[in-house]
Amino acid sequence: MTVKQWHGGELRWDHLGGEWTVLTPGRGAAPADPCPFCPGPGEDTPPETWRLPGEENGTWRVRAVPNRYPLSDRHEVIIESPRHDWDLANGTDEEVADVLSAWQERHRALRHGAEQVVVFRSRGSDAGMSLSHPHSQVVGLPVLSAAARRELATMREHYDRSGRPFAAEVLAGELSSGERIVHANGPAVAFVPFAPSAPFEVRVVSARHRADFAAVSPGELAGVARVLRLVLAALRDELDDPSYNLVLHTTPVGLEHVPYLSWSLHIRPKLATPAGLELATGIPVVTITPEHAAKSLRDRIP
Ligand SMILES: [Zn+2]
Repeated sequence: MTVKQWHGGELRWDHLGGEWTVLTPGRGAAPADPCPFCPGPGEDTPPETWRLPGEENGTWRVRAVPNRYPLSDRHEVIIESPRHDWDLANGTDEEVADVLSAWQERHRALRHGAEQVVVFRSRGSDAGMSLSHPHSQVVGLPVLSAAARRELATMREHYDRSGRPFAAEVLAGELSSGERIVHANGPAVAFVPFAPSAPFEVRVVSARHRADFAAVSPGELAGVARVLRLVLAALRDELDDPSYNLVLHTTPVGLEHVPYLSWSLHIRPKLATPAGLELATGIPVVTITPEHAAKSLRDRIP
C-alpha cells in the first residue's frame, strides 16, 4: 500500500483505479458572513503573499493569500477582485488579464518542491464553490496525477512520431473545419472539443503552443483574456449563468521548456449530475453535439 504523508492528511494510491486519493479528515468549510475577502472591516484572510496594487495607495486589484483550509502546504487563494459581485464574464479585458497574470505569478511561486501545480476556479455551488466572492485557487502537489501522466505520454509519443505538438495538429484540424470554433482572436482560440466530456465544454488554447502558461507574454495574455471573457459571457447568456469549473492545464514542474506540451484552459459547465452509464464506466454521456454547442456560443458573441 503506497501512502505519502503531507500537510496533516495523506495521499493514498489506488492501485486498481491508478490514481491518488487525497484524505483530509476534518477539512473545514469557509465562513461566509461577513465575506472574508471583501476589503473593509470584515476582511479576514491569512497574511497576503502577493498583490497587484491598485491606483490608490493601499488598494489592490488582485491579491493572493494562503488558503485557510489547505489541501497541501502550497495552497493559495487568488482573490480576483475587491468587488464581491465581480466576475470574469462581466469584467473588463484588462481585469481578466490581471487574474491570468496572477495565475502565472503564483504558479511560478509555488513550483519549488512540487511535482505539479494546478490552477482552478469554480463558479456556482454546483461546481463546489464555497465562497461567492470571485476567487481561484493554486495548489502545489507532491505527485503527478494519473490524468496528467497520461496526457503527457500522449503528447510526447505524438511529438516523437510526427515532430509536431499534438495540440498544434488538433488546433489545425479545428481551424480548417471551423464547425466547433467558438471564437478566435490572434493566436488565442476557443473551441468545443470533438469528443467533449460535458455539454458545452470549451477549451481556450494558443496557436503559439508553449508548455508553460506562466511564460506567456503580456501581449498574448491580453488576447487570451479577451477570448476567455467572451466565451464565459456567451456561456452565461446561453445557459442562464451555469455553474462551471475552469482548469488550467499547463506543464508539470521541470518540463517548462519541452516542445511537445501546450497549455490550455478547460471550461466545463456543470449542467447535470453524472448517472448510470457514466458512473458504471466512466464514459461521459453528452446530450448536445459539440457542433451545435459551438454554434450556439458563437452566435452569442458579437
Ligand atoms: Zn466579498
